[in-house]
Amino acid sequence: MTTIRDNDIEQEAMKRSFYHLIVNGEKIKSSTGETIKTYNPATGELVAEVAKASKEDVEKAIASARDAFDNGKWKMYPVGRRAQVLNKIAAIMRSRFNELVELEILDTGKTFHAAQGQVSQAIEDFEFYAGAIVGHRGVVNNVPGQFHNYTEKEPVGVCAQIIPWNYPLMMAAWKVAPAIAVGCSVIVKPASLTPLTAIILGEICLEAGVPAGVVNILPGSGSDIGNFLVEHPQVDKVAFTGSTPIGKDIMGKASQSLKRVTLELGGKSPNLVFEDADIDAAVDGSLFGIFYNSGQSCEARSRLYVHEDIYDEFLNKFVEKTKKLQLGNPFDKGTHVGAIIDQVQLDTIDSYVQSARKEGAEILVGGNISKPNGYENGFWYEPTIIANVNHDMTVVKEEIFGPVVVLMKFKNEKEAIRLANDTEFGLGSAIWSKDGARATRVANQIQAGIVMVNCPFSAFPGTPFGGYKQSGFGRELCIETLDLYTETKSILSYYGSRPLNPFGL
Ligand code: NAD
Ligand code: MN
Repeated sequence: MTTIRDNDIEQEAMKRSFYHLIVNGEKIKSSTGETIKTYNPATGELVAEVAKASKEDVEKAIASARDAFDNGKWKMYPVGRRAQVLNKIAAIMRSRFNELVELEILDTGKTFHAAQGQVSQAIEDFEFYAGAIVGHRGVVNNVPGQFHNYTEKEPVGVCAQIIPWNYPLMMAAWKVAPAIAVGCSVIVKPASLTPLTAIILGEICLEAGVPAGVVNILPGSGSDIGNFLVEHPQVDKVAFTGSTPIGKDIMGKASQSLKRVTLELGGKSPNLVFEDADIDAAVDGSLFGIFYNSGQSCEARSRLYVHEDIYDEFLNKFVEKTKKLQLGNPFDKGTHVGAIIDQVQLDTIDSYVQSARKEGAEILVGGNISKPNGYENGFWYEPTIIANVNHDMTVVKEEIFGPVVVLMKFKNEKEAIRLANDTEFGLGSAIWSKDGARATRVANQIQAGIVMVNCPFSAFPGTPFGGYKQSGFGRELCIETLDLYTETKSILSYYGSRPLNPFGL
């Protein structure tokens, strides 16, 4: 059994018991002295205490972000210099890799493998945008004769970035990297349950040379300061990742000042296994698709549809492997499934499973709260497979955000596509088939922002991530994201030798 428990850096991470807000380049306590306590969901133990931002702190952060944007030098730097700072952020993150992995595990209860992958990606996001920003520029357009038209990409301004608890550092990186790459200032509001790594990221930004006020990090209550940010007239844009109901609320409130909005919301992503699939690859990919991050993923493939000809074979293999998934010490490299974020989420998951039982579905595996040995005080749920379901059932319609998959049969391609699209969401989707023509045909008809073909992974830096329908709009993690943090300005000039006199007076 290999763990990183004895790592020196881990000891460092453990020693630190208080985390400050980052406002205007300084580490400060809350104006009210209030704090948030953050717990390890795997054990229920206290991890650290964090300053809890008040409205006064947010007001201060907005003023500093505004000043840094309106009067500061960051957006005026040559683009190569901003790129250099982003690369430096990545380099410092890399040098503190183990500490970041450790903290992410302690704060979320996720597994070592998951945390390691996500911290790696967060680093690569900064490297990606350091490169991408250099090629992000306006164009020259064709206009008549003596005219000339070009466009400039100008940073949108002060951005509020609201982050969920399921991928605390990675979501912060997805938002901070493109925004500061283009020259914006940001106010990041991490989820109260998982604020630690975003605070470290803020400290690293300062160390790497991001000027004061450009990156502010303020953990605090969503309904209180999250809402305050969304309604504040000095904020130009809101980028939000979280649940669909809160996303709708934010969009409504942001409309008052016509703020720019991007929303990455919930999902109920379909996973289609065709009769011509490599069944073992489909089993392994489907397992990862739902149980990775304990199912607490917006793009979790939580609706599994299998062609009737291979249903029994697939089901047997899928059930066998699900039973082999290990829960327990998140630091143990042999653990596959980590903890659930808190008691509230655990209760939500369990009540969905109860609803399935009541509506007549069959629980093939799991279906219970779990108490792994030595982790009895944490929040755990058994990997769960639910069969005998139909599209009227709550567990098929609603996002559960836990390690619970519903399994259904289909007869043909047409039915598979109809079932896949029979949802109000449209984030992820997966297709398992060895027939390239079929995979392309089905991919073209699926209403979702992401299609995974014979592939368990949903994104790398550079691939667009975001939803159709009620999964939100806007794409992160890609070059196009830079457009969502900029305005396009059109500059039209006249260079004729004679002055124009359109009224002819
Ligand atoms: P949530 O919507 O409750 O909270 C997300 C963030 O918004 C938190 O920081 C929270 O404090 C803040 N918030 C809450 N109420 C607010 C308000 N009224 N105004 C402003 N901010 C507010 O969601 P969660 O429970 O943290 O995360 C789980 C949800 O996020 C799931 O539904 C999941 O599908 C979704 N999610 C989506 C993506 C994506 O990329 N589409 C990624 C991760 C998570
Ligand atoms: Mn925590």
